[in-house]
Amino acid sequence: MRLSQLTVRQFRNLASLDLEIPEPGVVIIGENGQGKTNFLEAIYYLVLFRSLRGAKDRELVRFGEPGFFVAAVAGAHRVTAGYETATRRKKVTLDGSEMSKLSEAVGTILAVPFSPADVSLVGGGPSARRRYLDVVLSVSEPPYLGRLTELKTALKQRNAALRRGRPEEARAFDGPFARAAEYVTATRRRWVERWHERFRELCRALGEPSAAGLRYRTGEGTDGTEGTDDADAWCRRLGARMERDLRQGVTTVGPHRDDLRLSLAGRDLRIYGSAGQQRTAAIALRVIEAETLAATRGAAPIALYDDVFAELDENRQARLLELIREALPGQAIVAAPRDSEVPAALFDRPRWQVAGGRLDR
Ligand code: ATP
Ligand code: MG
Repeated sequence: MRLSQLTVRQFRNLASLDLEIPEPGVVIIGENGQGKTNFLEAIYYLVLFRSLRGAKDRELVRFGEPGFFVAAVAGAHRVTAGYETATRRKKVTLDGSEMSKLSEAVGTILAVPFSPADVSLVGGGPSARRRYLDVVLSVSEPPYLGRLTELKTALKQRNAALRRGRPEEARAFDGPFARAAEYVTATRRRWVERWHERFRELCRALGEPSAAGLRYRTGEGTDGTEGTDDADAWCRRLGARMERDLRQGVTTVGPHRDDLRLSLAGRDLRIYGSAGQQRTAAIALRVIEAETLAATRGAAPIALYDDVFAELDENRQARLLELIREALPGQAIVAAPRDSEVPAALFDRPRWQVAGGRLDR
């Protein structure tokens, strides 16, 4: 996959950019706080129509401006996205037509972001890992995003009824919740089944001698239904938790509480992993993301590297470069504060400077 043109208006500190993106990609050099991550975030916005840092749309609008706009040409397609703060309206177009559902345009542009902040995927709480799974599956399996939205809608309505202390009303959402939950958990589990060996292999290839593990974990599973994803099992779990859910005013079991467990030699990486081990696992997750997209969408995604190489020792850096040559052979946008922090293997592309949100070629 290749991005040939990029237009950015009033996105974070990037006021106005109209760029031809060179075929191999670019190296963006700039001091702290100048707009490197914002630039990558603008590109990634066209993948999911959401911030890659999990920011709200209104936070992406340049201070003092009414809205932002980003557009790109990738292959034969042109994708645009605009947001207006006053109306909170987001408009996405694909090849000139406005999309009524964003999910129809998700995955037109494929990109995988690498950032030092990815370590929180491994060291942080379960929500970061669920988000990771949801992003990978939303981009790679078109029905997923729609089913996930159904799940979230049912959950919101169920929780509202629970907060009002209305069990009958809450129960009315058990069916829709359970049907969406069946799809979501089964799809997540299938993905883990498909990729857990590869995760181990990648961690080893990155220099980690102990065996790494990737496992999907559902609920607390004390009711004997652990491992079953069908809607009936979800309904039974919801039923069994009703009293507790009412007390707490939230749905305490469901895919929104599940986790992707990462381990090293059988021990939880989140709790026992060293900083370097967690970083290695986070990179392996990003490589798997790239491989998942390539396998399901048939094109190598664009790599967005946000200053990830400086942190690695020489050995791991060399191993990573070896891996990404295969997993991410396409275009690469490489951001770093200094030339010396860009590995030689990625340095052979045009170099642009960013300062105060302006790009200098
Ligand atoms: P670092 O090397 O520290 O990671 P960076 O070049 O990646 O720096 P960015 O995160 O891209 O920096 O840019 C941060 C700058 O963007 C900050 O100066 C911040 O104040 C500014 N910024 C963030 N959001 C907005 C916004 N909505 N409008 C205008 N400026 C913003
Ligand atoms: Mg940055």
